[in-house]
Amino acid sequence: MDQSRIRNFSIVAHIDHGKSTLADRILQITETVTEREMRDQLLDSMDIERERGITIKAQAVRVLWDFEGETYQLNLIDTPGHVDFTYEVSRSLAACEGALLVVDAAQGVEAQTVANAHLAVDNDLEIVSVVNKIDLPAADPDGAAAEIADLLGDDPAQVVRISAKSGINVDQVLDAICARLPAPTGDRSAAPRALVFDSVYDQYRGVIAFVRIVDGAFKRGQRIRSMATGQSWDVEEVGVFSPQMRPVAEGLEAGEVGFIITGVKDVSEIRVGDTFTDEANQAVEALPGYQDVKPMVFAGLFPTDGEDYGDLRDALAKLKLNDASLIYEPETSQALGFGFRCGFLGLLHMEVVRERLEREFDLDLLATTPNVAYEVSLTSGETVAVRNPSDLPDAGKIAEVREPYVKAAIIVPKEYVGTVMELCNDRRGIYGRMDYLTPTRVSLAYDIPLGEIVLDFYDQLKSRTKGYASFDYELDAYRVSNLAKVDVLLNGEIVDALSLIAHRDKAYGAGRALVERLRELIPRQMFDVPVQAAIGSRVIARETIKARRKDVLSKCYGGDISRKRKLLEKQKKGKKRMKQ
Ligand code: GDP
Ligand code: MG
Repeated sequence: MDQSRIRNFSIVAHIDHGKSTLADRILQITETVTEREMRDQLLDSMDIERERGITIKAQAVRVLWDFEGETYQLNLIDTPGHVDFTYEVSRSLAACEGALLVVDAAQGVEAQTVANAHLAVDNDLEIVSVVNKIDLPAADPDGAAAEIADLLGDDPAQVVRISAKSGINVDQVLDAICARLPAPTGDRSAAPRALVFDSVYDQYRGVIAFVRIVDGAFKRGQRIRSMATGQSWDVEEVGVFSPQMRPVAEGLEAGEVGFIITGVKDVSEIRVGDTFTDEANQAVEALPGYQDVKPMVFAGLFPTDGEDYGDLRDALAKLKLNDASLIYEPETSQALGFGFRCGFLGLLHMEVVRERLEREFDLDLLATTPNVAYEVSLTSGETVAVRNPSDLPDAGKIAEVREPYVKAAIIVPKEYVGTVMELCNDRRGIYGRMDYLTPTRVSLAYDIPLGEIVLDFYDQLKSRTKGYASFDYELDAYRVSNLAKVDVLLNGEIVDALSLIAHRDKAYGAGRALVERLRELIPRQMFDVPVQAAIGSRVIARETIKARRKDVLSKCYGGDISRKRKLLEKQKKGKKRMKQ
């Protein structure tokens, strides 16, 4: 295909504004899939994605579209919408010349709309803006179009108004892509270069690298070289997704998007962001890659049954093949035994990983409270990273502790501004600015410690604003904070898994709350058990679990077996609660 008739684009949107539905409709009206193969959210292939209605892994699909008497090749790269996966979005965008920015006609511009628009502009992409869901009774297409036009400095008349669900005007979106997005401008006669923008692991084929060919061409049988590692391989297969994998005998040329299989079995050998070139005709300069993504949230994962440790280790190794952003290292806890300390991009990522481990690998897991990574300068001059609260050195050895802050953007209807500000202040947020997007909707900027949002900030925000707030954040910098480690002692002994790091002003309250909860949750023993919270050697809160007076079955002499079962059942439930 001539480069002038190729268009590479992504769809970006706030979550639930209709990206996946629009992708489905595009596959359908371009007849890429038949009516029979069609099912909702075709590109969301993971079970969890489908169930939760989110897109986790970016996907690339080729479709053909006739415009002004010519056939165009459109390569659609679907992206995830959630804040945790922003890095996947920015990676996909680097493989494109343009983006569709989709906004829900009933919701208007939201926090991730703004974040995604900035990402697209930063990547020098041309944007076609789309107002979706015009079929909804509550839709205000003109209002939404005006908001996007304002955001992008565009003309509201240029905004395409569609219903992805019913298919109204989706053809106009495809026409706009052909007419308004730029064609790729690679040099087909130059030394080959391909950008690896993603990869997946297939049990039978090994690593499948998703590539954007920038210069030259790639074909089956060619010997290619990684410009990052210097390794070389023979190409086993070159092809495209339409949407199933389809080999392309003539190979892929500059401007095109597809996959390359080399038979490599170890995902770590093919790095996302790498540049492939020809072994015999090497390019001089590698393409700009991507920054490594850093996990932001850490938690310990332990098997409830110690014997499953080996299974958990194997499961994590397999999962990592598919999800390079997951990191883990062995951890031993006196209370919980052997497990792993894992690093995640955010809370949703953590939930997804945990769910996949439990579901796909049939494991029963305990997760510790998530925390962030702290930087600690010691009085000895050394700097250490602390990913586990129980690893925080003694206060006497610490010169200063730094914690990560994020730049948070929150968009809310103006009547909720007060309650949102209250929440941000409560979470040690530093007010940045406030702007009116429309007379009724406000965007707020705050700097907030990441540690204050990993737990339940998003839930709180949603409930305080009746679900109307949208929220996005990016990591900003580490800042010095007055932090303390709170230890929990049961019967005089520190339980390492329960240690937490909190701001000194909040440490007392956090310790008090935890101790009270534990008193309610831990079943009575045959003797009194003191539960204490302490900072260093200073006890800040204490409760006592009173000794149990009776065995649960003791008053059940003789009588009906079902009565005993009921009591034992009750006790079992209590144990389950204790685990939580
Ligand atoms: P994504 O998170 O951006 O991928 O959004 P989805 O495509 O999963 O859509 C979110 C929800 O909006 C789904 O329940 C869709 O059925 C619904 N939806 C998407 N497009 C339309 C539309 O044009 N009209 C209506 N009424 N609903 C839509
Ligand atoms: Mg989706």
